[in-house]
Amino acid sequence: MITGIQIKNQVENVLPTKVSLWQRELAGAVREPAELLRLLGLEGTVSTNPFRLLVPHSYIARMKHGDWHDPLLRQVLPLDEELRVVEGFNHDPVGDQFAQVADGVLHKYHGRVLLVTTGACAVHCRYCFRRHFPYTESNPVRGEWEGALAYIRANADVREVILSGGDPLTLSDERLAVLFRQLRDIPHVTRVRFHSRLPVVLPSRIDSGFLSLLEQVPQQKVMVIHANHAQELAAGDVRTALAALHGAGVTLLNQAVLLRGVNDNADVLVELSESLFAQRVLPYYLHLLDRVAGAAHFEVPEAEAARLMGKIRQRLPGFLVPKLVREVAGERAKMPVSG
Ligand SMILES: *Cc1c(COP(=O)(O)O)cnc(C)c1O
Ligand code: SF4
Repeated sequence: MITGIQIKNQVENVLPTKVSLWQRELAGAVREPAELLRLLGLEGTVSTNPFRLLVPHSYIARMKHGDWHDPLLRQVLPLDEELRVVEGFNHDPVGDQFAQVADGVLHKYHGRVLLVTTGACAVHCRYCFRRHFPYTESNPVRGEWEGALAYIRANADVREVILSGGDPLTLSDERLAVLFRQLRDIPHVTRVRFHSRLPVVLPSRIDSGFLSLLEQVPQQKVMVIHANHAQELAAGDVRTALAALHGAGVTLLNQAVLLRGVNDNADVLVELSESLFAQRVLPYYLHLLDRVAGAAHFEVPEAEAARLMGKIRQRLPGFLVPKLVREVAGERAKMPVSG
């Protein structure tokens, strides 16, 4: 039997430069809709869309063959419906472009700043509010984050730094090491939080190199992963990645988005919470969709969301019930939605 680690070593031995397995997997991710359909045994045409398809093979492997309605496929497949103009859906629904206090730093909420470490993700989620952001490909934080770090150093009430993006775990270990080293020297920063979908969509990212990097982070470590359906977690490599993070002392939380045709029913939401906790992850937020242009067909109205919460609350222990929230531009926190 050949393990992932052995494959990695073999690959590295024959290559002049050091490229990790996860970087190869990301480079080999599917970008052509026709290829995705072929892999899933589906026939049909796919919408051409300026927001490109991007999905790693590991995630495709968890999709059901021959099913257009697969909840994972729906999250990544470009549809013509996205091109429809719908009133109330715009390009910056959460007001992020106004919350930048320094290059790549969003300071909207007390005590914590969000660092836009990169514009890159390992998957393109069709409902993402970042789909129209100008920084989708390039690195928005130039140089070695001097401006961002200077801001954090100068603001002693910043206790928590949230590494976000894009997805911070698409950065190489070398880039992350630079960031961690600088954060370590800021005494008022007591927590480092990651917002990453990679443990779910590209679990090979949680490799020995990354785990040893984490050992160099003396602060408390939190990782907020992003899974919307239990089927996303039903894979051995995801289980291994989450167990390794837990073993490295990382507090694991999940944020999900309530999505029409993906998880808009009580059974699916209950199963998601149960599966998360079975892998040591606590449900944190269930977000109402940000009203971003192109995503209207995913929206679940607030009243229906509140009814769903009522149902799952009757079936789950309190600690497995996520908080239903909506992001409102200009507010000082994610706004609770009562249900
Ligand atoms: C969501 C968000 C946070 C984190 O909010 P929490 O409620 O602490 O999870 C921080 N900064 C920005 C800009 C955000 O959008
Ligand atoms: S930022 Fe998160 S939700 Fe948006 S495309 Fe990237 S992984 Fe998906």
